[in-house]
Amino acid sequence: MTSISGKTDIDWTAFARSLAPVEVISEPVLVKKRSRDFFWYSPILNEQLRRCFGDLVAVPRKQEEMAHCLGRAYAAGVPVTLRGGGTGNYGQSVPLEGGLIIETTAMNRVLEIGEGFVRAEAGALLADVNAALAEAGQELAMFPSTQEIATIGGFVAGGSAGIGSLATGRLREPGNLRALKVLSVEADPQVHVFEGEEVLNVHHAWGLNGVITEVTMRTVPMRDWLGCMATFDSYADAYGAGHALATAEDIAPKLVSVVDARIAGYFPRLVDHIRPDRDLLVSYLPAEKLADYEALITDRGGHADLALTEDKRKAASIPHAFEFCYNHTTLQVLKSDRSATYQQIGVPDAADTAAIVRLRDALGEEVWTHHEFLRAGETVQAIDLPIIWYKGPERLQQINEIYAEHGFAVYDAHCSRVEGGGMHADYRHLAWKKRLDPKGLLNPGKSLAWPEVCHLSADEIAARQG
Ligand SMILES: Cc1cc2nc3c(=O)[nH]c(=O)nc-3n(C[C@H](O)[C@H](O)[C@H](O)COP(=O)(O)OP(=O)(O)OC[C@H]3O[C@@H](n4cnc5c(N)ncnc54)[C@H](O)[C@@H]3O)c2cc1C
Repeated sequence: MTSISGKTDIDWTAFARSLAPVEVISEPVLVKKRSRDFFWYSPILNEQLRRCFGDLVAVPRKQEEMAHCLGRAYAAGVPVTLRGGGTGNYGQSVPLEGGLIIETTAMNRVLEIGEGFVRAEAGALLADVNAALAEAGQELAMFPSTQEIATIGGFVAGGSAGIGSLATGRLREPGNLRALKVLSVEADPQVHVFEGEEVLNVHHAWGLNGVITEVTMRTVPMRDWLGCMATFDSYADAYGAGHALATAEDIAPKLVSVVDARIAGYFPRLVDHIRPDRDLLVSYLPAEKLADYEALITDRGGHADLALTEDKRKAASIPHAFEFCYNHTTLQVLKSDRSATYQQIGVPDAADTAAIVRLRDALGEEVWTHHEFLRAGETVQAIDLPIIWYKGPERLQQINEIYAEHGFAVYDAHCSRVEGGGMHADYRHLAWKKRLDPKGLLNPGKSLAWPEVCHLSADEIAARQG
């Protein structure tokens, strides 16, 4: 069997045989399909990554099979890229140097549900975890809008926040991730358990520094949520109402998103359900708070168009409200027009609507804003995931500079390195990479800092964190 990636010099037939009894996929079309994620959101990454493929896919069903794959990869010096649902946006699970893709979706059992937590295998679909929790009267404290295809391990390794983060913060907030069970890539892979603050050694490391086999995550009591849509005559009004709702402790919504009217024009499933050509406020709030919510919307000059229980939503054939927030908003536009792209922006002061208006004026017609509110400790913050009508890398850079001039941080969505997006190198991650992946086989090429420090000891690398 020849190398599909064209980047490895390995006898893939013999290697595939050595993985038995683990299921493998070697059909080039299928291997290529599993080498992709949602990097195509970015025309820059699409150009860089669309010809990057793995060579073989393994689909272990339990931890012992995963350990077997990792031990074989270590012995043969094979690069290994973990893959859950493949919904990452930056080529997180694209094998840059070819090699073995390990898909986790057959390791999908929900192992334990307790008071305030769930423990599941890394490949469990988030929607399945939420369904199991619902039977116990609980729900995940947060989940990404991709819950139907994304795995709990992929969310922890690649994601950061989601539906619920307005109530309970990002994944990294203390208490949200309780424990992670992680395998090393060695001749005889070892199990390491990270608990409490220690989970940050592995969280959002893109599968660079260990293979997550089990996740224990925070759950909250299930509530009767209403998926709500309200419309406004101006973005400023919609944003101001969004901030007021996000900070209304008596209503306690778990999601508040504000979407530019022009983006909402790309939501065909909402036609006849919301007023057209208006800026949109999407939220989830407890059913018993409907009257308070409607009063807030009216006070702010808006119109409460939709407030749906799950049963009513299904009966009306309307998608979940969360399919119009986070990166699903971008997806709705891209379904119609691939010349759009997006960016990730930090808002310096979530309460400052005037600053948002000034920035929108400066950005002009080619950037359409979309804000998400989320909690960080006691405060409510905002991020912007705007639609940008792409006119080339130079113009994108100019747009980034406009954000920076206005004091808004750009977390660049057009970079396939873990330190991209304005993030500093996380030397805790890299120190653990040295300990758990001494040959540097996991997701190679995804860390800018790793080549500079890989010759140091784990303690020397950790010391760089300061
Ligand atoms: C439409 C859309 C909406 C999105 N909405 C959100 C959102 O609301 N919030 C959010 O945070 N993100 C969001 N994302 C990004 C992405 O969906 C999430 O990060 C998601 O949870 C990833 O899960 P996955 O199973 O698809 O992971 P994958 O894409 O398969 O993998 C993500 C990363 O984790 C690594 N990985 C996977 N499994 C393991 C494992 N067991 N051990 C170690 N490393 C592993 C992979 O190598 C890769 O680097 C969105 C993306 C899209 C396309």
